[in-house]
Parts: sequence; structure tokens; C-alpha cells
Amino acid sequence: KNDYKQSEVGTPDYSDLFLDKYISVIEIANPMHSLWSDGRWNKLTMAHGCYWGKCTFCDISLDYIKLYEPIAAKTLVDRMEEMIAQTGENGFHFVDEAAPPALMRELALEILRRKLTVTWWTNIRFEKSFTRDLCLLLKASGCIAVSGGLEVASDRLLELIKKGVTLEQVAQVTRNFTESGIMVHAYLMYGYPTQTVQETVDSLEMVRQLFELGIIQSGFWHQFAMTAHSPVGMFPEEFGVIPIGLDEKALPLVGLDGLFANNDIQFKDKTGIDHDKFSFGLKKSLFNYMHGICFDYELQEWFDFKIPKTTIPSDYIVSCLEKEESFNTKPSAKIVWIGGKPLSEAFSKSKKGSSRQMLKLIFHNKRETIQISLDKDKAEWLVTTLESLSIFQNKNQTFAQLKTDFETHFEDFELFWFSKPMNTLKDFGLLVL
Ligand code: SF4
Repeated sequence: KNDYKQSEVGTPDYSDLFLDKYISVIEIANPMHSLWSDGRWNKLTMAHGCYWGKCTFCDISLDYIKLYEPIAAKTLVDRMEEMIAQTGENGFHFVDEAAPPALMRELALEILRRKLTVTWWTNIRFEKSFTRDLCLLLKASGCIAVSGGLEVASDRLLELIKKGVTLEQVAQVTRNFTESGIMVHAYLMYGYPTQTVQETVDSLEMVRQLFELGIIQSGFWHQFAMTAHSPVGMFPEEFGVIPIGLDEKALPLVGLDGLFANNDIQFKDKTGIDHDKFSFGLKKSLFNYMHGICFDYELQEWFDFKIPKTTIPSDYIVSCLEKEESFNTKPSAKIVWIGGKPLSEAFSKSKKGSSRQMLKLIFHNKRETIQISLDKDKAEWLVTTLESLSIFQNKNQTFAQLKTDFETHFEDFELFWFSKPMNTLKDFGLLVL
């Protein structure tokens, strides 16, 4: 019998699990671990496998990573509704290896369209498609946290890992999540093959800066482990590591058709560095950073052996965030409005003897009220347009269509789109996706 397709696996059935008989474990040191252990979370996946599937330390040759098969957003939300009805819990932990951003977007839109009140979190890659607007949409749909692999915070090693992200990108993306109110947890790694002592120290400095700026709120250091089904495990010589503890004949057996339980391989790194000794200092510093303290300590203070000074400028991450955002919006970008209908008030503005008819538009959501003022004719155009951009209309209008429509009535769409009132509205749910 073939494996079931993801669309056919059905909804997990928790009817025999007595959720009310379990205690809730409160773990306070690490915010993400606390999320894992505390409360009840319905478990689902958005996709089977990983859409990236390239990281060299990961078991990418095994089906659970290699076979990527996403589930349609509508099916997923159907399953969420079924699980809510069965368990009475509206919290979801999507246990994906790395949730795909495009599907997260569709999921969020579908949740909002069905007006579901849910809370959810998942594992991601810090890739650049997590723009400010996508993060705002995810938050509006109930996303409260994401975890992702920063691994070794060094561009040389990220490249070697084939993570497909740079530190600059990670900083910008974690900022986007944080500013939308989504908590960020980073998986951190040390002892990757060829990693030098200097790179471990520099990676710690990057982590210190990310926490000091508050764009990552939770993290955990893992020491690199070599697994049989990862590229490093399959081609150790390419990564400068020598497997040990297995005789040469046994190795291919474990690598090719060995048991998953024998997945970890002992190895010797050609650099000869004892990465174990960094463990305590890395973890202790992180524990303090997570509590928002000790950012001013010299990195040396975390270790009882001599470490080199970091080569990273103390404003490195700040400078990554300062890069100007471009005003170029792709013509094919989808524009959606997740807010409601505004109230309007007419008024007139006099300047140098002439008077202009204006409209004040007042928008409400659950938490706040904002108002913007525009020329009456543009405000009226905007009100009609917002209605057609509403997620409930599901019309998929693009930036180019919007521009054409605007310019059949008025001049210079860009000047209007990037004006102050419109920027206020963009913070309030007018999103470019
Ligand atoms: S480490 Fe994560 S992102 Fe990389 S291939 Fe594995 S599952 Fe995918």
C-alpha cells in the first residue's frame, strides 16, 4: 500500500487522550520551552517534510525531510476547526520542520476569513520572505511565536551549512517578527565542522547583540551532532571530519540502511578544537541575555579559559537594521485589507482664501482607533477600494491594478501610496503580501 497523501491523512483524533488529567508544566527560564510545556496545544503540520531541504547537518536524505508535501490552507483550517470542536482548545502548535512562508500566508488569510479565534506557533527558516507586512498578517491571525535555526551566527558557516540565509537577513526578519508582536526563538549551534574558536566567540557576540536589541527573545545552544543521514555524515571528508567509534566496514551500514536509533556518529574534527568546553559559557551567557541582563559583560567573563576578543563591531546588527527599505513594490504584489469599514466625518480646510473639502476616516480594531484625513475625493476612492481589497472579498488585487485604478481618477499613485496617512493605514492592516 502506498503512503497516504497529506490531503488524505485526516484530522488527528484526540478523543481518547484525557487532556484534563495532565498537569501543566511551568518552565520559566526559557520563554519558548515554556510555550512547549505549558498549556495544551493541538498538534498539526502545514506540510510534510521541508521545502528547503538543503542544510548540511540535517537528515535531508530521509523522507521526513526530503519528501515535501504541503497541505492546502483550506484543508488545514478545516482540520483546525474539527480539532477545536473535539478538544475545546484553540491553541495550535504546527510541528513542521520549517513551515513554508507562502502557506503560512494562505493559512493566516483563511483563519481571518473564517473569523476564527486561534493562537498558533511554528518552526520556520529566517528567510527574507517574512516581510513586515507578512508578519503583521500572521500576528493578526493568531501567530504568537516562531522558532528558527540561526545555527552558527557566522556568514561563512551559514554558507557551509547551506542555510540559505545571511546574518543581515536574519536580523531584519527577526525584527519584523518582533515588531509585529511575534516572539522569536533561535536554535543556536556551536562546534560545526571547521568552526574556529574565533568564530564561536564572534557568533556569541552576534547573539549578544540580537538579544540586546530585543529582536530575539529566546534561544538555545546545541552542540553540533553528526548524523548518518545528513550530508556531513554521508560525506565527512568534504567537511573535514573523521568518523570514529565505528570500524570502517560498519559505517556504510549505518549510513545507508542502518537504524535511525544509531543515527548519531562520533567524529573527530580536523581543527582539533574541544568544543565541549564552550558549552557552559555559551549557555550561561544566553540564560542571562534572555533575562535582559549582562549585555555589558566582556565575553571573556563567561569562560574560565582564555578566549580571543571578538572581531565583530559592537554595532554590527544595528547597521544591518539600518539598511533603507526600498520604496519599490512589485507590480504583482497582492494588496489586502484586513481591517474593517471606517466611519467618516466631512470637514473643510481653508488655506490662503480657498477651501478644500476633506474627509476624516476613523478606523477601529479590537485594540485601538486611528484616524486619517484625506481630500474628500481620494478618501471616497479609498473607502470603496478598501472594501474591494478586504480579505472577505478575496479578489486578489495587485499593486499594479490598484495603481491603474487610482490613476484613472487622480495623478501620481506612488505619492499617494507612500504618503503619511497611507503609511498609518499600512500599520493598521493595509498589507502588501
Ligand atoms: S535544518 Fe530545517 S530548514 Fe534545514 S533542511 Fe533541515 S528541516 Fe529544512
